[in-house]
Amino acid sequence: MSHRNNQGAVIATILNTMSSKEGEYRQGVKQNHQLSKSIGERLAKDGPLEEILMALNNNKGGGEEIVPPGEIKSFLSEQQGRLKALAERNSLRNEKIGFFLGAINQLQQGFETDNAHDQDVDYSSNIENFMKGEIQQMESSNRDLQGSKFCKEIRATLGENEGTAGEDDIEVVRNNEENIGNYKCCITAQWMEDPVTSTTCQHSYSRKGILSYIRSKGGQCPCPFPGCSQIVTQNVLEDDAGMARKVKRNRRRVEAEEEQKKQSQALDMDEDDED
Ligand SMILES: [Zn+2]
Repeated sequence: MSHRNNQGAVIATILNTMSSKEGEYRQGVKQNHQLSKSIGERLAKDGPLEEILMALNNNKGGGEEIVPPGEIKSFLSEQQGRLKALAERNSLRNEKIGFFLGAINQLQQGFETDNAHDQDVDYSSNIENFMKGEIQQMESSNRDLQGSKFCKEIRATLGENEGTAGEDDIEVVRNNEENIGNYKCCITAQWMEDPVTSTTCQHSYSRKGILSYIRSKGGQCPCPFPGCSQIVTQNVLEDDAGMARKVKRNRRRVEAEEEQKKQSQALDMDEDDED
């Protein structure tokens, strides 16, 4: 007779509860991000705070500045730096949540298939070892926090132009823009429509495509982007207006190029006719 022992049943319940709380885990991160953005708007380059400080600096001194304007700028850039550091921590936390949920998901799957009915298995020490391994892997993995959506949004809010960092960066941006694969949905293979982005791995998809994919997988699935295995659920998807703009821009460019190619081919044929 096979029956789940008591310890196993308790652990299964705990795992289910943990994975169902994703929205709650992410809520703190989201709130922090919203708050950072609204602070960022005030601290932005040529933003309200800079304006007020500059105005005060001029007026109170009766036309003469109290402090050199450079000091105001450096004060502001110090605050901006703090906000960017906050965004980086926030994005790290968000990634850790994704990692944690991925681990829980693996445990759940293993738990259902493996030896969940075995009385002799010491689940708690198995789980402890597994989680220790996952945490180690997470701590040692390289991540591009600066490239995360949180950090990018805060930099954009602060009025930092991503393209001005240096020639190399401009080149990278251009190359990315030209890689149209980035703007086609990995599920529908078409230009992304109404794109949404996973806050876990930053991959984007057509809204309808990913939602029906998630549904078909029973509410969660590994990210369908080639080479990515982060877990995607409806909760981690966010509207991505920036991506929508990029898709539109690139789609227009590619279609214009194709049109031009067609026209010049037609022209070539005309010339051939004349010969
Ligand atoms: Zn992904």
